Amino acid sequence: MRIAMIGTGYVGLVSGACFSDFGHEVVCVDKDARKIELLESGVMPIYEPGLAELVASNVRAGRLSFTTDLTAGVKDADAVFIAVGTPSRRGDGHADLSYVFAAAEEIGRALTKPSVIVTKSTVPVGTGDEVERILRDVAPDSGAKVVSNPEFLREGAAIADFKRPDRVVVGSEDEEATRVMREIYRPLSLNQSAPILFTGRRTAELIKYAANAFLAVKITFINEIADLCEQVGADVQEVARGIGSDNRIGPKFLHAGPGYGGSCFPKDTLALMKTAADNETPLRIVEATVQVNESRKRAMGRKVIKAMGGDARDKTVAVLGLTFKPNTDDMRDAPSLSIIAALQDAGAKVRAYDPEGTEQAKTMLNGVEFCPNPYVAAEGADALVIVTEWDEFRALDLGRVAKILKQPVLIDLRNIYPRSEAERAGLRLTSVGKRSSAAAR
Ligand code: NAD
Repeated sequence: MRIAMIGTGYVGLVSGACFSDFGHEVVCVDKDARKIELLESGVMPIYEPGLAELVASNVRAGRLSFTTDLTAGVKDADAVFIAVGTPSRRGDGHADLSYVFAAAEEIGRALTKPSVIVTKSTVPVGTGDEVERILRDVAPDSGAKVVSNPEFLREGAAIADFKRPDRVVVGSEDEEATRVMREIYRPLSLNQSAPILFTGRRTAELIKYAANAFLAVKITFINEIADLCEQVGADVQEVARGIGSDNRIGPKFLHAGPGYGGSCFPKDTLALMKTAADNETPLRIVEATVQVNESRKRAMGRKVIKAMGGDARDKTVAVLGLTFKPNTDDMRDAPSLSIIAALQDAGAKVRAYDPEGTEQAKTMLNGVEFCPNPYVAAEGADALVIVTEWDEFRALDLGRVAKILKQPVLIDLRNIYPRSEAERAGLRLTSVGKRSSAAAR
């Protein structure tokens, strides 16, 4: 199959590279000329484990190419995927569909055959209808069909998620389009690694939002249970294990922490709320989740200040991990942004280290000193805070950390370290949803 991928970001690039690895001929299109230049010279514009090798081998095999020329990319394509951004619209939280609609218009003008147009971007219910209308206006005789194929990959594990997904969802109202989509995903059904769920187009669009909202609820639920654990002397990790081993609940997404962030959950929960309100069916559980999560991020700043003795003025805080999760450079809506703002507002100086996120973080954070490793960040600081659980923070030399900190205060917002280990090294530990060292005294 010949595939054009419009939008070569976190989703488009991974999807395009994986489709080409399945044996399809893929052209990835982006209007960002710098991104395409980097890709053409073999440099990845994002950090995603395994991506550089996957891209290189498929480019070498002649199945994967990059261009800024949408018309050339779309020409002769059997399927054209739209994988452009759908950020929150300012003001009302609705998904900003301007990139999707602009791409649809450009695609319509470039069509040379009755291609299948696939929205891979996360788009509200009914967007497929609007894309269809745009195509009908721009290219009335193209015979193009519009399909929804939301993407569920997680940054940091994107390639494995794409190649071995729990399921693929295809929302199609047309038999021929369904056949094309079946053909595109055939390598997955050949090795029986994923069921392909064929649904109506509106259903597929809603599945994506319902999935993300449910996961956001699950995270927020365990975070509130963590707060209760701290008050009553229980341990949230044990509670999570206790409830997660029930098959009806499952162990995933039960890690208490600083609140969810990233490029999807915050904007997708808001967009779903907007769709629900527009249809006079408010989703109160999702509304509460959004509120609780928002206040939690700044509350984490207060937690750090409390661990330092209640006053942040003229104190220096070392922050480990800035990205919204490990193994990505993505800083969009990362909890670190709110935590650092809360610390700075309270008068603290912030030093930070992140293995891959520094470049993006520099464009989003003011007044932060960026350090080359965790120990430089910790040197002389009044507290060390682990915000993102990168692997390299799992085996810190805690003895060394205790010596170089001005105050031996460790705030572990990811519950990596047991209290006994931290205390043995001479550190006072504050965790999430567990008894902290200070409370133990
Ligand atoms: P991104 O911002 O990384 O990439 C979008 C790309 O589209 C950018 O490079 C931009 O230059 C390009 N673009 C915009 N308009 C264009 C046009 N007309 N022609 C060509 N290129 C154009 O976004 P992303 O994180 O890849 O997300 C894309 C979509 O996938 C969003 O709807 C998002 O919600 C969804 N999604 C993202 C993830 C994730 O983990 N990032 C996971 C699942 C779904």
